[in-house]
Amino acid sequence: MDLLIVCETCGLTLIQASKSSFSQEDIDAYRSVKCAVDGTTNLQITLDGTTVSFTPKVSPPLLSVVQGQLAGAQDFGNSIILQFAAENYLGGYSTTDLNTVLTTLTGVMQALQTGSITIALQRLEALEPDGQIITVARLTEYRNILQAYLGMPLT
Ligand SMILES: [Zn+2]
Repeated sequence: MDLLIVCETCGLTLIQASKSSFSQEDIDAYRSVKCAVDGTTNLQITLDGTTVSFTPKVSPPLLSVVQGQLAGAQDFGNSIILQFAAENYLGGYSTTDLNTVLTTLTGVMQALQTGSITIALQRLEALEPDGQIITVARLTEYRNILQAYLGMPLT
């Protein structure tokens, strides 16, 4: 049998092969072939002159799975920020002090908001307590919350 794969866009012959038989798997293996001229993957495949089709490959919707996981992590991260902010609100700190803390925690909050909980924990662990708003006890509390979420042993 003669297998011929031609670019549908420019007509270039991309693959020409001869075997006693070609399985659907053989044919599907050519799915990633790209035309060197125009980079297209629109291919026309013929077996002994008869056009054949690819079996549509069911690829796992990996991106959407990861997006779902990250969305969950972002929800968690935002809930942590909300908890911290509410505690600060009740703590009655001055605007000046809260402003400083906001700057100090920018990196941690970015990590939490993007769902990068491991990075948030690393950044939290690198923080120096200020003895007022960011106390040792509070740092430990929040580290424990993140560690529990990540399934790590608590500090
Ligand atoms: Zn082409």
